[in-house]
Order: sequence, then structure tokens, then C-alpha cells
Amino acid sequence: MRLSMIVIFIFCVYVKARSVNSKNGVPKTPFDEKNKDHWRLQAQWTLRAKLSKPQNKNIAKNVILFLGDGMSITTLAATRVYLGRKYGLTGEEVKLSFESFPHTGLAKTYCVDHNVADSACSGTAYLSGVKANSQTVGLSAAVKRGDCEGQRNAAHSVTGLTDWAQKAGKATGIVTTTRVTHATPASAYAHSADRRWEADADLPKQGLRCDDIATQLVRGRVGSHIDVVFGGGRKNFLPKSEKDIKGQLGYRRDNKNLIREWLLTKESLGYKPTYIRNRKELYNLDVDRYNSVLGLFSHDHMPYHLEADDDDPTLSEMTQKAIEILSRNKNGYFLFVEGGRIDTAHHETKARKALDETAEFAKAVETALKLVNTEDTLVIVTSDHSHTMTYSGYSERGSDILGLVNNNKVNASDDLPYTTLSYANGPGYKPHQSFRRHNLMLDDMNSLNYTYPSLVPIPRETHGGEDVAVFAIGPWSHIFSGNYEQNYIPHAIAYAACIGSGLTMCEL
Ligand SMILES: [Zn+2]
Repeated sequence: MRLSMIVIFIFCVYVKARSVNSKNGVPKTPFDEKNKDHWRLQAQWTLRAKLSKPQNKNIAKNVILFLGDGMSITTLAATRVYLGRKYGLTGEEVKLSFESFPHTGLAKTYCVDHNVADSACSGTAYLSGVKANSQTVGLSAAVKRGDCEGQRNAAHSVTGLTDWAQKAGKATGIVTTTRVTHATPASAYAHSADRRWEADADLPKQGLRCDDIATQLVRGRVGSHIDVVFGGGRKNFLPKSEKDIKGQLGYRRDNKNLIREWLLTKESLGYKPTYIRNRKELYNLDVDRYNSVLGLFSHDHMPYHLEADDDDPTLSEMTQKAIEILSRNKNGYFLFVEGGRIDTAHHETKARKALDETAEFAKAVETALKLVNTEDTLVIVTSDHSHTMTYSGYSERGSDILGLVNNNKVNASDDLPYTTLSYANGPGYKPHQSFRRHNLMLDDMNSLNYTYPSLVPIPRETHGGEDVAVFAIGPWSHIFSGNYEQNYIPHAIAYAACIGSGLTMCEL
């Protein structure tokens, strides 16, 4: 274990040990915070941890890229409090697993044609190193959304980390809590003029001859060579006449069973493949027997962690198994892990779910860190874009992050309470009654599905346009510091891992 991480871990234990809980169960500020020596000691520990860490200039044999979809910096700050209160702490002082990484940067996320990114153009940037148009996957900005001919023109396709890693003889894997054909995971292997073309049934009925994303995962040059694919979205791989393990019908109209085809294709390529469908099958998976695994754990997106049952593996469990399989490759691996439901929860302004999904994402990073050696494994944690959630008011330390500002003791100018978390737009808009703002005291904020207030009524809350954080640990993690365009990220990863056609450390 790295010295800097040991120092930070000891400090976290120290803070936790010195926290004092009041009799009514509301956490109090750790009492040492009132002592100036507490802050001096804390800062000195941080300084010593940084000074003790020499720059790691090894080759990154392995790379794990963690992507919290829609995981804005505000989301991180709010999740600390959400997690901290679970530990009986005030929360603000807590660090998420990756917030102890030695190097941090900020990435600018805009698309070529829009000021606020969607997950497709953003995914193309941080996985392939080229900024693209909104809603397009793995294509240059010469292709507009829906331009099938542009998709078919090989000159407009962009290659990325998955391809570069495969060409270097590394194993590759994708883990997500969304459909494996959704825009973010698709950006790791597909080229599509419209992110919505996940199955053939999604293409317009105009005889467009463009491969859908699921087909590209099974038959594509890059997709067919991915060793591990874990996530949701069985429906896009099954014909509409066929039911899955839960009795739900497939969605494809070309009558293809792409799961069966995936197994046959893998065998023909010399792999030892298997297909798994639930948590039990993941748990029982024999990693000595199979070196290529397709795990489709739900019909659509995987359920939110707060609503999951025993059949649903967690993001941590999927990440652990993926690393166990991929790490058997002597040339190393590239693994892409997405916490995809942070974003969908934000779109619904369901802040409780968004914070919980972020906490689960942080757990998955923690799981990975226990399994890898950061002397030869580069771990990056970032996001694709922000959201409109704000964290505001002047509540006391340790207040319920999902509650009202100051427990409703201080109201707004209209003498009504307001929430610490709210959104600029989205379905949480509460119509005024008799020209007065809705009284939030009437709402049940403990409900998992409570929609946090938004200023502007629209059915789906939008993404936000500010920069996202990038956290890095391992070989060459120091080159991820600073402020840069998002498409820099895969170039820096490729440099550290000696993959791709750009500059690499191996050429020095
Ligand atoms: Zn989104």
C-alpha cells in the first residue's frame, strides 16, 4: 500500500475516532475542529503525503478508466455528506475513495456543435481522443446526428483506447450499470450516427443500412474482441419473439439472437466464452475455465442500487470479477467501468438515488484499488458531463443533505422552506398555489423517488456545461493535472500505457 494512502487512511480513522455524536443522534462537528492544531496537523499530513510520493514513470501495464455518468463536482460534495452521515459523522470532511488520489485535473466537456455535452460526444472524446457532435458515437464531427452515410464512411470513424489496447495484445473489458449498448459503453467499441440506434428496431424504417450498436458489439472489429462485457440491456440482443430469463420479450426485429451469435463468434475466434444472467451466475463464474464473459444482468438498464434485489450484482461485484478475468492476460488490460445510473437519477431530479449511485461508484473504485498495484496500473476516475444540481444555503454542519435548509428554521423571503439540493430545471418543478411557492413541508423527502425542486419545468433535467473532475493514480498520473479539453484524456492514457499511434513513453 502506498505511503500517501496509508497517511490519508490513518487521518480518516483519526477523524472518525474523534467525532462526537450528540444524544439525539444528529452528528456534531468533530470537536477537534475547534482547535487550531487540528487544522495544522491535517494540512501537514496532507503535505507530507504529497512530498513522500515520487512521480511514477513506469509503463502502465494495466489501465482502469472509471466514469461516473453525470457525476458533477457538486454530486461528489453532496455524496460525501450522504456517506458521512451513514458512518455517524457530520460528513463534509469525508473523502470518497478516489478523492485521495495524488493528482487531480479539470476537463472541459463541450461537444463540437453544442455547449453542453451529451454522453455520446463526450464518450467519443474521453475514449477516442476526438471531440464530436452531440448524440454521435465514435465518429468525427464531420458526421451529424442521424447521418447514416457518414457512419458508413470509414474515413469518419475514430479509433480509441479499446482498439489501441487490443492491438497491443491487452485484454479489454466494459462494465456498466446501464444497457451495454447505451451511449457511454457504446463509445468504447461502436460507431453510430445516432446514440439511439442500440438495436435494429431503433433505426428509422427507411431502409438505412447502418449497423445498430448491439450488432457492432457482436460483429464489430473491436466489439467482437472485447473479453468481458457486464451490464444490462438483454432486450437489444434478443428477437422480439423470444423471452429472456425473466420472461420479458426481446426487442430486435431482424429475428437475430445476438447472445447465441456472440458465443459462436467467440468460439470461432479461439476464446473460451460463457454467458451469465444474474448475480449468482457471476458469483459462481469459474475464471480458470472462461476467458471471455458476456454478462447481461437485466432486460433494460440495471436497477438502481436502492431498488436492486438478490439477482442484481453491484457495480463493485462486477468490477471485481472483470479484474479477476482480465488480469490473467500477461500483457495487461484496459477496463472501462461506468456508474451509469447517477445520470439517470439526476435526469429525474431524484437526488437521493443520484447520491447513492455515486456512493456505489466510489465503492467500486475502492474494490479495484484493493485488487491492483498502482505501480503498474493507472486508475483514472472522471465524469462525462455535469448536471444542474446545486448544493446551497447555510445549514449547520452535519445537516441532512437531502433535507431542508437549516431544518426549516430559517425560511426564504416568501417565508417558505427550501432544500439544500435543488435543480435548475427538470421534473421536480412544483407548481405555485395561489401565487405562492409550493410548501415543501408537505412533501415526503424520505421517499426514494422524491423529485427535488427545480426552477424550470421540463420532463427530463438537463446536463450542465461546467468542467468535470479527473482523479488519477498510478503510472504517469501526474500528467492528468491541470485544466484541459476532455479529448486529452485518452492521449495521456495511451502515452502512459504505450498504446495507440500517438506519442508514448516507450518512444522516449
Ligand atoms: Zn444524461
